[in-house]
Amino acid sequence: MPAHDHRTHSHRAEVADVLAFVNTAGPVGPDELPDDVHVLAWLIGRGLVHPDHRRLPSSRDIASRAHHLRTALRGLFSATTGHRPPEAAVLADINRALRAVAPIELIASPDGFAVGHRHLGDPVDDALGRLAQVILRAVTEGEVGRLRLCAGPRCQRAFRDASRAGTRLWCDMTRCGNRAKADRHRAKARGVVAQPSAAPYPRTT
Ligand SMILES: [Zn+2]
Repeated sequence: MPAHDHRTHSHRAEVADVLAFVNTAGPVGPDELPDDVHVLAWLIGRGLVHPDHRRLPSSRDIASRAHHLRTALRGLFSATTGHRPPEAAVLADINRALRAVAPIELIASPDGFAVGHRHLGDPVDDALGRLAQVILRAVTEGEVGRLRLCAGPRCQRAFRDASRAGTRLWCDMTRCGNRAKADRHRAKARGVVAQPSAAPYPRTT
């Protein structure tokens, strides 16, 4: 495999990457990132870790670091969903991830200069930090309130609300929205008024 191309490889994570990362685990279904191998493959697949790092020693505790950040991100999304401040531990965990981001710098190239970066630290910590940077950008762009969790109690998937009003409750109206509507209908028939659930996702680590 040829050396990675610094000109096209910026290690920048996008909102879609963070949503996908948070949604690798939910209230139902298996954890898509159960161990180090799966986490590493996922980060490589998203272009956040170079493929030449596929063979990392297994002692690096990759999965637990990833799960820690994933739990913190879900905690942050839960807070934005509930319009309340996140727990101090959530911010501390995200800040810890941010500090591990490797610097990006300009390097000389045959035709001038290009964007390069050196992995001074751990490539997995760098990748997790890139995911955390998405939150940082969302805050500065006034967009972080649009990153929320679906109100469907059996769903709770992270989603970005792209609606004009920014008041969407469900990740998917046809699936979770209609299901909630049907639940409310049944509850009404029984004389119970159901509220959309915004229950915080339980911390697992
Ligand atoms: Zn949903």
